[in-house]
Amino acid sequence: MSAELHYQTIAELSARLGRGELTSVALTQAVLARTSAVEPRVGAFNSRDEADALRQAEASDARRAAGQALGSLDGIPIGLKDVIAVRDQLLTASSRMLANFVSPYDATVTQRLKSAGAVLWGRLNLDEFAMGSSTENSATQPTANPWDLSCVPGGSSGGSAAALAAGEAIATLGSDTGGSIRQPSSLCGVVCLKPTYGLVSRYGLIAFASSLDQIGPFTRTVEDAALMLQAIAGHDERDSTSFKTEIPDYRAALTNKRGPWKLGIPKEYFGEGLDPEVGAAVEQAIAYYREQGCEIVEVSLPHTEYCLDAYYVIATAEASSNLARYDGIRYGHRSRQASDVVDLYFQSRAEGFGEEVKRRIILGTYVLSSGYYDAYYLRAQKVRTLIRQDFLSAYQQVDALITPTSPTPAFRRGAKADPLALYLCDIYTIGVNLAGLPAISLPCGFSSAGLPIGLQLIGQPFAEAELLAIAAAYERGHDWHQRHPQL
Ligand code: GLN
Repeated sequence: MSAELHYQTIAELSARLGRGELTSVALTQAVLARTSAVEPRVGAFNSRDEADALRQAEASDARRAAGQALGSLDGIPIGLKDVIAVRDQLLTASSRMLANFVSPYDATVTQRLKSAGAVLWGRLNLDEFAMGSSTENSATQPTANPWDLSCVPGGSSGGSAAALAAGEAIATLGSDTGGSIRQPSSLCGVVCLKPTYGLVSRYGLIAFASSLDQIGPFTRTVEDAALMLQAIAGHDERDSTSFKTEIPDYRAALTNKRGPWKLGIPKEYFGEGLDPEVGAAVEQAIAYYREQGCEIVEVSLPHTEYCLDAYYVIATAEASSNLARYDGIRYGHRSRQASDVVDLYFQSRAEGFGEEVKRRIILGTYVLSSGYYDAYYLRAQKVRTLIRQDFLSAYQQVDALITPTSPTPAFRRGAKADPLALYLCDIYTIGVNLAGLPAISLPCGFSSAGLPIGLQLIGQPFAEAELLAIAAAYERGHDWHQRHPQL
């Protein structure tokens, strides 16, 4: 095996564990050692418990020795974004508001990873309450991009992307409301999958915008994304928006369905603001699919220009409602300065939330207020329907869509001080959330500065199996995913 243990895939490692060439304890120790070596420079973790990880690894080895190994994830170190609840562990959302909050229960995805035997390793940094595109809005620390430590890893799941790219975990989970899995995956050069809304339970995920939020994996390969999705997908009665649908064998689908597919290129995704190097890399990927026999057609998603506006009305409206619970009394930071109970609410929220979160709560409260509700919130919901219809009518012609994931490679920390400049990072990812669709991002090249570029494949609702197969077809012909940053 060529790569160091911390850069191997779930598929490779689980085969080695199965053959008895490796123990979970040895693998976990390698990941812990790598983390100790690089984490002072990367800053991907909010908290981590080495002793706990090693205990889980020992339990995995004991299971295996007794002939009771649980499957591909058994014994594999997997990191979780710090908005996914793990019982008896800190759960901070990278906010002062929840700095000392310990979760009393497991999220459904956590429970499923535990029953698959995964070694849960650390809580990963993010933009506070998942609001941002650079992980600079974290109250903990900014996370660095492993490919260039002076650059951001993207966000909001920047810790999940950076930890994987740096070899500090074998796979991670993040959450995606407007691009928060895909954009950091693109900027850090790893694979990810944002599932169809309703495929993965949101129970135990700290809510940002409930009609948009989905949990999904970051992995080194498409095959690993299939393995992770297999473990976390499926109906959950504790999430009322969870969908009852048959879960196929995602890994088998990688080789079963070979295409050739009919792929659409939405012309609105290749206009102004697209970095020329990103555009060129995506064009090469399109050319590759054409060479493989796929039919490539131009399609139009005419309401694309309204995606950002609709998103920043709907997401902030839902956030203002979801974040009302952090009042310093039932949950969250409690101010010591308050003079009376009303002042206690004011002071606790003023001290607990960062600037971007406050901006969103104020905006969201405004668009929901009487007199403005129809003009903003209701109208944004109607626009959302049009955006979804754009995608669904494109799917009458094509199997999937190809776009860039992010308009640019990673940018320098501090380079985007204006909130609007940051909001534009999600211009190619937000429509997918508004329409509730699945999408994959995978590496498709590097900029002249050596920074990763990501390709986005957008699929039809609940067609993850086919989407994974389309992604795997690209990955088989390229070796971008085998490159690792020099740290
Ligand atoms: N960057 C977007 C925002 O700031 C999306 C965040 C997300 O997907 N959680 O809202």
